[in-house]
Amino acid sequence: IYRWVDWNYWRVGDWLFLSRRMDQQSSIQYKPLETPIEYLKGVGPVKADVLKKELQVFQFHDLLHHFPFRYVDRTRFFTIGELTPDSPMVQLKGTIERVDVQGEKRAKRLVARFTDGTGTMELVWFRSVKWMQDYLKPGQEYIIFGKPNWFNNRPTMPHPEMDPVLPDAIAPPRAALHPMYSSTEKLKLHGLDSRGLYKLLQTLFSRITSADLPEILPRHLVEKYRLTGRYEAFRKVHLPETKDDIRHAQRRLKFEELFLLQLQVIKLRLARMDAHRGHIFPHPGTFLEQFYSDVLPYELTGAQKRVVKEIRQDFLTGNQMNRLLQGDVGSGKTVVALMAMLMAAGNGFQAALMAPTEILAQQHYNAISADVKALGLHTVLLTGNVKGAKRKAVLKGLQSGDIHFVVGTHALIEDKVQYKQLGLVVIDEQHRFGVAQRARLWGKGTEAPPHILVMTATPIPRTLAMTLYGDLDVSVIDEMPPGRKPIATKHLYDSDRLRIFGFMKEQISLGRQIYVVYPLIQESEKLDLKHLEDGYESISRAFPLPEYAVSIVHGRMAPDAKESEMQRFVKGETHIMVATTVIEVGVNVPNASVMVIENAERFGLAQLHQLRGRVGRGADQSYCLLVTKDKLGVDARKRIKTMCSTNDGFKIAEVDMELRGPGEIEGTRQSGHLHLKMADLQTDYPILQEARNSAIALLETDPTLSKPENTALRLHMKATSSPGFDWGKVL
Ligand code: ADP
Ligand code: MG
Repeated sequence: IYRWVDWNYWRVGDWLFLSRRMDQQSSIQYKPLETPIEYLKGVGPVKADVLKKELQVFQFHDLLHHFPFRYVDRTRFFTIGELTPDSPMVQLKGTIERVDVQGEKRAKRLVARFTDGTGTMELVWFRSVKWMQDYLKPGQEYIIFGKPNWFNNRPTMPHPEMDPVLPDAIAPPRAALHPMYSSTEKLKLHGLDSRGLYKLLQTLFSRITSADLPEILPRHLVEKYRLTGRYEAFRKVHLPETKDDIRHAQRRLKFEELFLLQLQVIKLRLARMDAHRGHIFPHPGTFLEQFYSDVLPYELTGAQKRVVKEIRQDFLTGNQMNRLLQGDVGSGKTVVALMAMLMAAGNGFQAALMAPTEILAQQHYNAISADVKALGLHTVLLTGNVKGAKRKAVLKGLQSGDIHFVVGTHALIEDKVQYKQLGLVVIDEQHRFGVAQRARLWGKGTEAPPHILVMTATPIPRTLAMTLYGDLDVSVIDEMPPGRKPIATKHLYDSDRLRIFGFMKEQISLGRQIYVVYPLIQESEKLDLKHLEDGYESISRAFPLPEYAVSIVHGRMAPDAKESEMQRFVKGETHIMVATTVIEVGVNVPNASVMVIENAERFGLAQLHQLRGRVGRGADQSYCLLVTKDKLGVDARKRIKTMCSTNDGFKIAEVDMELRGPGEIEGTRQSGHLHLKMADLQTDYPILQEARNSAIALLETDPTLSKPENTALRLHMKATSSPGFDWGKVL
């Protein structure tokens, strides 16, 4: 008797897997791929535990998705004589001459002399010394496999794989192409290095058949793109025989991954359009016209004009706008947002602007209320700091409609805040606001949710944006206002300290203000704070009162203290602001024209670019000094070099993507569906496009995936969709 008792949910990355939880008492039968990993021969409870913790492999299914990151050709034998320091993983055939234990205690290691007629090399084991010592037989011939190291101009090989060459040919035939799996120290301790994982996959494929991995893609797509079948693809990616096997298997799995992703994204978008009728703003309104002709002190850039038009179009469709506005730091996003707000006001609606921090909210409030006062519009500030009678008045005004614009922090979306007729919400600096907060806004509208405009200064290449924000429309301001002087960026070392201080003094004497920024990373928070405090002390010593005034701001300070220190700097009462990255987002102090970034090697590119964007806002020449230690790693050097060579945020984003992969790009992690296991958004862009077009075409003909040929696909998506996608609403 099989009894299904309950459901289990496994979250793996952003995927949700459902499986049935078994009644321990009864005899159990699992669907093969849902079998818990401990039931795979060679695993058992201890290894299963490590697999779950280290690789999130819970079931057979998960192991199938732990793909090889590389393959090595095991048909080829190298000789010791031809090894060079650049040799990859190599396979050699030769004899063990002698085996010795060397060193004491922690330095104890096993060293074997290995020769193949063209030379000799040492094979070394630091672990399992005793075991290997018993296993290795001098005089025996072995096939060995590993990565040679070079030491004193001679090759050695740590922890090679060893297979004795047996006289009779009963040794199992070795796969020509050997998959390499990523592993961890813990896994290796339990025998699950790349080779151990490979063995598990071999075992797994001896237990499953093509019936366990049925096709989920509609047949016409499989045919059109000549895709390898699903089972074949999984099998061949793990147990390939030829290089073509690998290519075909990978192409199929990439297509599948991207196709499923696009289906989700596009479905979500269709659902949004359906479910969320939006307010129509039939005309631009008199406020906008008046602002444009009387208030706006400069000509809009072409890019700004284009985006204003795009927003205007959205307001006419009758659907809720969900638009992402991307533009490099300083590209002038705020005025575009303000113009959208003026359109809302001109059509009798209220508009809200939400900023991630109090200080930013304050700045936006100052700027906007000044701009729109002449138009007779009433703007208020609403943050956590607005309390008592003042707050009451604000809440009342929002409810009655006396207030047109409200600027604030997330206090704006608290339940207590009621609007008469909220037509538009602008969210500045998107990555500080999660998707969930955005969703809360949907409840703020009366008969329809407000339009939403999300601004971000984290430039994301368009291809990536299309995938990540498939549910948002994307506008880009790709042009800077005229007359900006590029920020001069220079790489300096810790040992240049005196020069740096000298330069800072010179700039202060010219009337400028300076930021000095220190990294603050959670893992090393204590040490980082110490660096910051030490830095503050030495700066205070070099820039003593009363001639100089220095501010300090970091995340550990009480909000009030932080706020007042910030304000002192904003008002020009202090010359130098020593801070952690709390100033990263959006602060605008036009007189601050020097940004000194300490330990610059520890910042990511996107962050460096954001920080640099804090200067260069006034008329003066601005500077960014990237201060690092003397010795830099390859990636850090490339980051610093990139910063010194360009001010273009999109170029920087491209390099960032190259260095870190798209999944790590700032601001994308929260978007919640970019843990691709097989596809690479940069190199697989053509496949992405095929997948996207196919997904669009499929949903056009069968929006609910209810045709028989799409049933398998629908069921698969239902079982694996991530929690952010509410399929209940959609299917
Ligand atoms: P960001 O896109 O980083 O939010 P802002 O909106 O703060 O940039 O704009 C930066 C500065 O550029 C502001 O001082 C703003 O007044 C100015 N600005 C915006 N658009 C233009 C333009 N078309 N011409 C000249 N200056 C502009
Ligand atoms: Mg801004």
